[in-house]
Amino acid sequence: MAVTTLEHVPELPLPDDLPRLYTIRTLLLTLLTTVNAAIEEAEDPRPRAAARIPRRWCINWRRAPAGHTRVGVLHAADCMLATGQPVDARTVQAERRRDGRRIEPCEVCDPQLP
Ligand SMILES: [Zn+2]
Repeated sequence: MAVTTLEHVPELPLPDDLPRLYTIRTLLLTLLTTVNAAIEEAEDPRPRAAARIPRRWCINWRRAPAGHTRVGVLHAADCMLATGQPVDARTVQAERRRDGRRIEPCEVCDPQLP
């Protein structure tokens, strides 16, 4: 199989603010996940088993000023963006009920909320 090399990748003019950098990172990781899935499909076109429901999750909390809602991004524990100790469904459910906090599913692994 011929593999194309990228010799002249242009330098990207990136924004310097975190919200847009997070958005660009999410877009790139989503693209990477999509491309990896397409490569796996091309390498082994047998039908896949149904998507599994994760048993462990990771919550990555974003920083928030005092008094503001703290947003946690929920990942399947094996998501490439997940960091920290995996937690079980009961912990995720307890965090979802806490005042001043909000849990959003990761846009890359898109886990089912327990
Ligand atoms: Zn994720």
